[in-house]
Amino acid sequence: MEHILEVKDLQTSFLTSSGEVKAVRGVSFFVNKGESVGIVGESGSGKSVTSLSVMQLLVGTGKIIGGSVKLNGRELVGLSPKEMRSIRGKEVAMIFQDPMTSLNPLIPVGEQVGEMLWSHDKSLSKAQREERVIDLFRMVRIPEPETRLKSFPHEFSGGMRQRVMIAMALACKPDLLIADEPTTALDVSIQDQILKLMRSIQKEMGMSIMFITHDLGVVAELCSRVLVMYGGLIMEEANIYDVFENPLHPYTMGLIASIPDINQDKSKKLQPIIGSPPDMVHPPEGCPFAPRCPYACRICLHQLPPVFSAGEGHKSRCWLLAGDAPSSGNPLKGRKGAKE
Ligand code: SF4
Repeated sequence: MEHILEVKDLQTSFLTSSGEVKAVRGVSFFVNKGESVGIVGESGSGKSVTSLSVMQLLVGTGKIIGGSVKLNGRELVGLSPKEMRSIRGKEVAMIFQDPMTSLNPLIPVGEQVGEMLWSHDKSLSKAQREERVIDLFRMVRIPEPETRLKSFPHEFSGGMRQRVMIAMALACKPDLLIADEPTTALDVSIQDQILKLMRSIQKEMGMSIMFITHDLGVVAELCSRVLVMYGGLIMEEANIYDVFENPLHPYTMGLIASIPDINQDKSKKLQPIIGSPPDMVHPPEGCPFAPRCPYACRICLHQLPPVFSAGEGHKSRCWLLAGDAPSSGNPLKGRKGAKE
């Protein structure tokens, strides 16, 4: 399989008045051509900083302090802002949670999408741009595209604005689309429509998608492989089936237990993961999930677990997979890839 994106040992920090926030602490993964990969975790897990590092869009004091990000085989770390501008849009594009912050409220939406086309191809005439924008609006199922391209962002609903953002991201046919919580601000039925739209566009265009979300349920709709992040690290990596049927990390198990089930008895409460994410200025020396983990033992508090391979691309960073892990009370006991 051809890797569109290859990230190796990525480390990203922010300098704050309280010290260095180690937001991403050595993350490695890849995205294959045409594949959709979900990055899941709570806020502060490092998932959004990972995507912004790939895009080289870190703001403020954010800085990549180590590692490598290769897109189509080309190293992005260290490229100049001008070089990155020519890659963004064309090879990799991003959509965010709140389209209003990315759209200019004073310019008609069609013109904004047209500008994106023009920034990468100056030979396009105004009429050609307009024609392409209409095609893009059709692709993202915006009704009456010929009329709507003259509308301003505030004249669209939240779901329609997100469709405009998707059209803008697709304008230059990127190889990789990064979507950072694109449906979080939308109500459930609109969220479902946007996910369906992204799935059909991905099939049509054959592009790769990196989908960032706090909601494991949303990932199940779109992604074939999942990376679960916590404390700036990837804690588990597996295909979507194994993540739900054979999770090998207590944090993943906690995320699954907190997904609302529409068929569930309403009197039964969801099980949130008790506790808060770690302080990333002073990350714990052991497993970052240890203070919240019901299975933590002595080694978890003092030593960061290594990445254990459980076969067929399934990996987990948990001491419960170690050869000498205790059997009694071990929730992973007997699972595929775990010790007997
Ligand atoms: Fe829990 Fe220990 Fe596994 Fe961390 S390494 S998830 S603390 S059992």
